[in-house]
Amino acid sequence: MDILFLGTSAAEGCPALFCECDVCVKTRILGGKNIRSRSSIQVDGELKIDWPPDTYLHLLKNNLNLARVKYLFITHNHYDHLHPDDLTMRQKPFAHMKDGSNLHIYGSRDTVDQILKVVEDPSKLGLILHRLEPFETVDAGKFKVTALPADHASDRVCLIYLIESRGRIILHGYDSGFFPEEAWQRMKDYRFDLVILDCTNGALPHTRYHMGLEGVVRVKKRMISEGIADKDTLFVATHFSHNGLLTYDELVSRLLPEGIETAYDGLTIEI
Ligand SMILES: [Zn+2]
Ligand SMILES: [Zn+2]
Ligand SMILES: [Zn+2]
Repeated sequence: MDILFLGTSAAEGCPALFCECDVCVKTRILGGKNIRSRSSIQVDGELKIDWPPDTYLHLLKNNLNLARVKYLFITHNHYDHLHPDDLTMRQKPFAHMKDGSNLHIYGSRDTVDQILKVVEDPSKLGLILHRLEPFETVDAGKFKVTALPADHASDRVCLIYLIESRGRIILHGYDSGFFPEEAWQRMKDYRFDLVILDCTNGALPHTRYHMGLEGVVRVKKRMISEGIADKDTLFVATHFSHNGLLTYDELVSRLLPEGIETAYDGLTIEI
């Protein structure tokens, strides 16, 4: 599978919209991999995770053809992961798609309800909405995707995803704190090739609702001790906030010795 990290920030972006903190000041000076837009990944050009408000920026920066995306999995309905208004551009005269194929959108009931507040008639936009429950598995073309519960918010259902294709398995793990025990139990059935983890809190130690360096290292150690991952598993941390207090180079210097890669906007991985 070809994985493209389109955005790698927390909700406010980095530099953050109105922020003058040290990290945002440094980010504006250093530029490059320090500049982060709201989080999303794309797999093989046809499966996408999340629909952030920076989707149009991602299209411009990566020369994307979103008409070719067939499956969109939404982690949860916080606005940095779901900006449903842009879905309304999927109709004439705003879009003229050659084969007119449908876009299947999957998410928790809260996510689907949020989309329906904006999109009155999904079929008019070629959208097929699927409500997913935690632990449910669906076939999406060549992909088999399983939803697991995240530890992220108490007022809505938030999901992480296991994506399987051609004998390879990705765990897409943001937004989440240290995973709930029932998610760990289900993961025991797998051996991951790529693990993508939430590192919003950076240098800070908290592991509820989001993780930081300590959390991702703890997840990696437990996965290896339980055989869910091994020496060939690739670990990537993403969804970084300026409030985690670290620039890109500082994150790399802390994560690399732990065998964890630091994501940046535009990172590509092939597994
Ligand atoms: Zn987020
Ligand atoms: Zn800041
Ligand atoms: Zn969130």
